[in-house]
Amino acid sequence: MIIDISTPVTSSMMVYKDRDEKRPTFTKLYQHPLHPIQETELTINLHTGTHVDAPLHIIPDGPPIDEFALSKFYGPAVVIDLTNVIESIRKSDLESITIPPDSIVLLKTRNSMHLGERFDFDFVYLSDEAAAYLVSKQIKTIGIDSLGIERNQSHHPTHRHLLNNGIPIIEGLNLRTISPGAYTFIGFPLSLPGMEASLMRAVLITQ
Ligand SMILES: [Zn+2]
Repeated sequence: MIIDISTPVTSSMMVYKDRDEKRPTFTKLYQHPLHPIQETELTINLHTGTHVDAPLHIIPDGPPIDEFALSKFYGPAVVIDLTNVIESIRKSDLESITIPPDSIVLLKTRNSMHLGERFDFDFVYLSDEAAAYLVSKQIKTIGIDSLGIERNQSHHPTHRHLLNNGIPIIEGLNLRTISPGAYTFIGFPLSLPGMEASLMRAVLITQ
């Protein structure tokens, strides 16, 4: 079974810190029935909804999104239940979980429970010590169900641990209905040479 874990892109979707300038806009260039065709223009921030961050997002001269091998976005995934975490995911929250090397690790938190509502400024995030731990486990890719993987940590240590080690960060996943466990993940960024991020359609395949 294919399960969609992406956030639908609409003009009223939840955006980072509820900033209106981050909201996508859809402009109808041609529309039925006045025109024989329908055509829509979409203006959108690359960090809207389900998206993936590349090193260039945080690191000047870091690799852009098109330099990630597509194999980073396909393969064995583990969904970890962290819905009891209130503030930040710590190393101690992860140590009891088996995480095979080369896994795509998806963090399910209480963020998934109120997706689609207003932006939660107190969203659960990944601490830098937990990010360093996941790097040591040689994970392939990481995903989380919030529009950021850290909140306002100065110098973005969590992003740095992951991106400096070539680990793509998928943000804005919807894991509300997903049981913890093993899946196959598929979710590719658009081909956007030189960009620091891309929208993504992400799915899980049950095993
Ligand atoms: Zn982002």
